Amino acid sequence: MNMLVLKFGGTSMGSADAIKQVVDIVRNKLNESSVMVVVSAMSGTTDLLLNCGTKASASDESYKDILKQLETRHLDTVKALIPVQQQSSVLSMVKKYCNEIEDICNGIFLLGESSLRTKDKLMSYGELLSSIIINAAFNTNGSTSVWKDARELICTNSNFSNAIVNFPLTNQQVSDYLKEVSEKLIVIPGFIASDANKITTTLGRGGSDYTAAILAGAVDATALEIWTDVSGMMTADPRWVLNARIIPSISYQEAMELSHFGAKVIYPPTIQPVLNKNIPVWIKNTFAATDHGTVIENKSESSNIITGISSINSLALLSLEGSGMVGIPGFSSRLFAALANAQINVILITQGSSEHSICVGVDVSLALKAKEAVDKTFEYEIASEKVEPLQIEKDLSIVALVGDQMRHHTGISGRMFSALGRNGVNIRAIAQGSTERNISAVVLTSDVRKAVNVLHEEFFETSKKQINLFIVGTGNVGKKLIAQLIKQRTFLEQHLRLQVNVTGLSNSRQMLINETGIDLNCWESSLEQGEPANLQQFIQSIIYKNLRNSVFVDVTANASIADSYALLLEKSIAVVACNKVAASSQLSNYKKLKHLSGEYNAPFLFETNVGAGLPIIGTLNDLMRSGDSIHRMEAVLSGTLNFVFNNYDGTKLFADVVKQAQDEGYTEPDPRLDLSGTDVMRKILILAREAGVPMEMEEISCNGFLPESCMKGTVADFYEAMKKEEAHFKAIYEKAKAENCKLKFVASYISSPLGDGGGKASVGLQHIPPQHDLYHLYGKDNVVLFYTDRYKEQPLVVKGAGAGAEVTASGVFADILRAI
Ligand code: ADP
Ligand code: ASP
Ligand code: MG
Repeated sequence: MNMLVLKFGGTSMGSADAIKQVVDIVRNKLNESSVMVVVSAMSGTTDLLLNCGTKASASDESYKDILKQLETRHLDTVKALIPVQQQSSVLSMVKKYCNEIEDICNGIFLLGESSLRTKDKLMSYGELLSSIIINAAFNTNGSTSVWKDARELICTNSNFSNAIVNFPLTNQQVSDYLKEVSEKLIVIPGFIASDANKITTTLGRGGSDYTAAILAGAVDATALEIWTDVSGMMTADPRWVLNARIIPSISYQEAMELSHFGAKVIYPPTIQPVLNKNIPVWIKNTFAATDHGTVIENKSESSNIITGISSINSLALLSLEGSGMVGIPGFSSRLFAALANAQINVILITQGSSEHSICVGVDVSLALKAKEAVDKTFEYEIASEKVEPLQIEKDLSIVALVGDQMRHHTGISGRMFSALGRNGVNIRAIAQGSTERNISAVVLTSDVRKAVNVLHEEFFETSKKQINLFIVGTGNVGKKLIAQLIKQRTFLEQHLRLQVNVTGLSNSRQMLINETGIDLNCWESSLEQGEPANLQQFIQSIIYKNLRNSVFVDVTANASIADSYALLLEKSIAVVACNKVAASSQLSNYKKLKHLSGEYNAPFLFETNVGAGLPIIGTLNDLMRSGDSIHRMEAVLSGTLNFVFNNYDGTKLFADVVKQAQDEGYTEPDPRLDLSGTDVMRKILILAREAGVPMEMEEISCNGFLPESCMKGTVADFYEAMKKEEAHFKAIYEKAKAENCKLKFVASYISSPLGDGGGKASVGLQHIPPQHDLYHLYGKDNVVLFYTDRYKEQPLVVKGAGAGAEVTASGVFADILRAI
């Protein structure tokens, strides 16, 4: 008769309800085949047992509370699963095991220590308990099953906690047992085995998968099914990558590589016993039993070049360096022999072609032991300065791309490294297996989650790219921006394949971060329930979260927020600002931000600093990049001032017209910044700088019109002062009118006639006659005239609404899209 081996993991055994599902799954299989069921301990049990041992050995009596908890959980499961009349024998068995656990822990408590051997004994009870419970469940639910202790079948050496299997003896014991058993259903505890002296050993954490594979190999099973809590092996760890998807079919080699590089869904040694016998392995979901799952077999039917991405944490890189190594054979073999003798498993190896250094990756817990062993081996060479003492670098991780198809394709590593580079992930070392089935990169542990996501997006999510926005400011512009993001969401997804998440949101009172994206339909109430705002914390968590495609969006006018751009750019986080403070700050700061932006590949965009949504800076950048040079710029850049002078004709108070501009949302929060000309100075300064001129604010001359008396006190005082100065404003107006001119607050820049890259800028109120280019400018419009090498006589003109929340938000939106 055919034999199927089914393994059920900790979650599948985690509650009476889950075990009922397991019983159903197995019952269906029994119609067509004999079945061996291998089970893990109930989820969390192994950790708790270990924890009891640790506490007991540290004379901490609270282990007794944990034991009580464990006992109750198992007894309750029996009571919920098995009819009352048939419970007693299982209940007493559970009690018996729990007493034994307690005896062992008491022993550890008295001795004050526990060996690996004792820990193995202690851990074995997790699987013993779960297996007798499910065995009873089968027998009371219409199937006849027999329980068999894995320790009588699987024989290992005495390497406690990670024992090595003696396959010939194990296979013999299994086949002898099969001859004597008549039941179609056999229940076996996973994870545990015994050594030649019948002492309990374990197969390594997660080892129940391995138990099932050993048995499947021994009985030549028709298939091995690993039943767990996900519907198959996935393209990446689903706890990290939201868009990870099931791999329907994968080769043994690929599955092995993925699990070796951290895909926890199967324990790495699991494939070995079934591989030679060509037994297919299925990964299936206990809680969605009809899902297809993943089949692991000889061939891979993946149409993707990359099958999956995985990662390993807690890596240390060990580097052996020295001029004495060049050209001399034997260094690497001595290095590896030293590591092997110290029982240190090498995860990754790289050697530069200069032979000047060899670099190996090992688990960080073994790094010091490795250093002792290697430094001892090279004692003589170190003393004579031919090689340096072994260097250790910690806090590293490996991220690996796996796929059989990679060897037939060029350019995969290029794509991998440039995707990581674009996101500011620094690569410490690289290794490619000679089978070309795997490319691994060593990165900082703080970057690994982002690296996995970046690569997943690069190789699997060609249909969608996720953007993470962190928006500061929910005033006029911020609100409009969020409204535009909501409105455009479907368009962005369908046409640009962008999934734009607002991951962080803050105003001056509250802040909120949600990695899966804040629900924009109720952002106001969510933000209200957020944490009290703290800029530093907000910035730190953006950096700490280290999400891919992060964009920081500053829609405030706040100087301390502008001070944080450098920190962000240094971490390759793009900055989009309508806040003008940074771009008009000290030249050295402006230059530093530009430099960081280039150095760390992080766009720093501020189109809305000049002319709101109008493409002014973009146009200037295009001219400069394509080799043009700016001779002169003539501009009206204040929506506020233009609005004020277009609407003031002496019939209404000047102060009232200014108030109207503020109410309609055109002014800065403090309108004096506009009225004094300071805001226009900042704008022409930014344009001059973007035209390549190293200018400071102090170099710009300003012919202002606001009397000194208006500059004092609060904004309310300012309005009062303006009322008192009405005659002054009226006189200015009348004078221009008498000359048949309009009043325009003009910003000009003229490059130095010496052609030395310098130039002069000025701003001020001017009388503009009807024939002038700037005359026909209405409402709050802005205009810029660029006179350049190419636009000598007739300027290139950009003109349109230059203020207002809606257009500013749309300019910020465009910058966001440009940044990504
Ligand atoms: P069990 O207790 O059934 O043995 P495990 O917890 O050991 O289950 O393994 C299943 C878990 O492995 C999943 O819940 C998932 O979170 C995690 N996992 C990590 N990487 C992958 C991957 N590439 N594919 C599927 N699951 C993965
Ligand atoms: N119970 C063991 C562990 O937690 C073995 C397993 O679940 O596979 O490591
Ligand atoms: Mg597992």
